[in-house]
Amino acid sequence: TTSLPDISRAQSAALYETALHYFPGGVNSPVRAFKSVFGTPLFIKKGDGCTVWDADGNQFVDFCCSWGPLILGHNNPVVKQHVLQAIDSGMSFGAPTELENDLASLILSNNKKIEKLRFVSSGTEAVMSAIRLARGYTKRDKILKFDGCYHGHVDSLLVKAGSGLVTFGETSSAGVPKGFADETIVIPLNDKEAVKAAFDQFPGQIAAVIIEGIPANNGLLIQTKEYIQFLREVTKTNQSLLIFDEVITGFRLGFEGAAAYYDVNPDIITYGKIIGGGMPVGAYGASAEIMGHVSPEGSVYQAGTLSGNPVAMAAGIGQLSQLLQPGFYKKLNAKAASFVECIQEFANNRGYKFKVFTAGSMFWFAFTDQNIQAAAEIDASSMTYFKVMHRELLNRGVYLGPSGYEIGFISDAHTAADLDKAKKAIFDSLDIVFLK
Ligand code: PMP
Repeated sequence: TTSLPDISRAQSAALYETALHYFPGGVNSPVRAFKSVFGTPLFIKKGDGCTVWDADGNQFVDFCCSWGPLILGHNNPVVKQHVLQAIDSGMSFGAPTELENDLASLILSNNKKIEKLRFVSSGTEAVMSAIRLARGYTKRDKILKFDGCYHGHVDSLLVKAGSGLVTFGETSSAGVPKGFADETIVIPLNDKEAVKAAFDQFPGQIAAVIIEGIPANNGLLIQTKEYIQFLREVTKTNQSLLIFDEVITGFRLGFEGAAAYYDVNPDIITYGKIIGGGMPVGAYGASAEIMGHVSPEGSVYQAGTLSGNPVAMAAGIGQLSQLLQPGFYKKLNAKAASFVECIQEFANNRGYKFKVFTAGSMFWFAFTDQNIQAAAEIDASSMTYFKVMHRELLNRGVYLGPSGYEIGFISDAHTAADLDKAKKAIFDSLDIVFLK
């Protein structure tokens, strides 16, 4: 196996050149800038099923899937039909619509982990609102988060966050007041003693512990059920809330997300991505009692001009209704498991130091032989392998998110033939990474 010549990126490069005049770093979200992989960012022109095409006409099997929302793939006909029908009646009213009820009813009658919810427009907004609600409800200020969990660009959570920040080797963001960061306690994942120590050090002060359903923004750091249930217990004992940030895992691991996967009942759950079918939607939900503290019922203020936007609600309805088809998750997860097993087996047979971490239809390629469960266990130097792999994969028609810390997603639209093609490309790329 030999390296293939690089794909043409002339059009993408020209568009990027222009974009650099308009946007900081030429992008509207940092990781898109391809800073930790080879080449300029690919400008995507079109997507259909599990395929995307870039501005130069290169075609890829897409495992980024818009970073998770597209669990049914691109251009799903049912989602599209719902969107077009909604647009026919208007794009936004800033007033209640029946579509909000319809999406809420679809969610609440099939996801028993929450009783009431509020729609917002992004995952960040969902988390920001959940944090405010937890603080308002408990009348406490401190938040405990985990190193390696990313919760959007919420001020008080941009403290040693993962995602783009780790990729760029930063530990926090400029512009976050020290006073905010002071209210955030950051501890390692998978470490009970650290949790106990935090509660001992700040008795009666921690409003909430927030954790990603399965931490999936800094590698895929799969926690044990026992640990998650410990978090449930310790928060309860300390009258602190447990917030599950299920922006990635919600409706991905199953309709009830990681909460069902771990068999826990968090106090507040945040959603995003899948819930909007590719449109900008987030949500946070909890028991009716806790949600009763949100304005106008309660004193925790939260609002949004485009919240519950009818077109976005329609996309969500179009998508979630398909996820409720009998056997949907079983089929998707089985397809993903067999894909991942095959890759792991290939690497094992070759003796490569390579491990695929996986849960449901999410996977993470790691250049390690360890069972990584905390951010600090990731060897930053292993990202040089990812960089080579990313390039080789692009040259073979496979698109992974442009960072070795990001996970991949398998959608319902990935066919056996697409996955076979991708496997072959992955095998060849691994050979090149390890034979060099
Ligand atoms: N929480 C988690 C767990 C996420 O993965 C993300 C985005 N990757 C967010 C929050 C923020 O969501 P958004 O990008 O929609 O603001």
